[in-house]
Amino acid sequence: MCGIAGVVGKPARDIILNGLTNLEYRGCDSAGIYLNDLQGHEYLTKAVGRINNLKGKLTPDEEGVIGIGHTRWATHGKPTVDNAHPHFDETKRFYLVHNGVIENYAELKEKYLPGVGFKSDTDTEVVVQLIGKIVKEKI
Ligand code: GLU
Repeated sequence: MCGIAGVVGKPARDIILNGLTNLEYRGCDSAGIYLNDLQGHEYLTKAVGRINNLKGKLTPDEEGVIGIGHTRWATHGKPTVDNAHPHFDETKRFYLVHNGVIENYAELKEKYLPGVGFKSDTDTEVVVQLIGKIVKEKI
């Protein structure tokens, strides 16, 4: 069981961290946050363990007006920094957090994403890589 918090349009960091903290009772083996200030700066920080570990890794300049955060309860891949969410596609245009299981992730990966350089062992990354690939090809 994981938690997801997202913010658009405000200084996002503390709202997301408070949201994740409120959801931590559901279980958490790692956590991560993506922030973008829409002024050319974006930040992705992840930590193994509880949210306090993530808070301890964030530097004061890491702030954004949009952001997403996640507390993970691993189903696919060990609880590591690389497997923590958010995940991103090769172009880093899309960042994704996800709660649950992608049952056909292996088929999707094999059929549509040969040659893609995956950064994690998760089912979730397959989805964001697929979105990135489709958008790159079609738009
Ligand atoms: N299946 C995903 C993973 O293992 C999400 C797990 C969760 O719901 O926290 O990364």
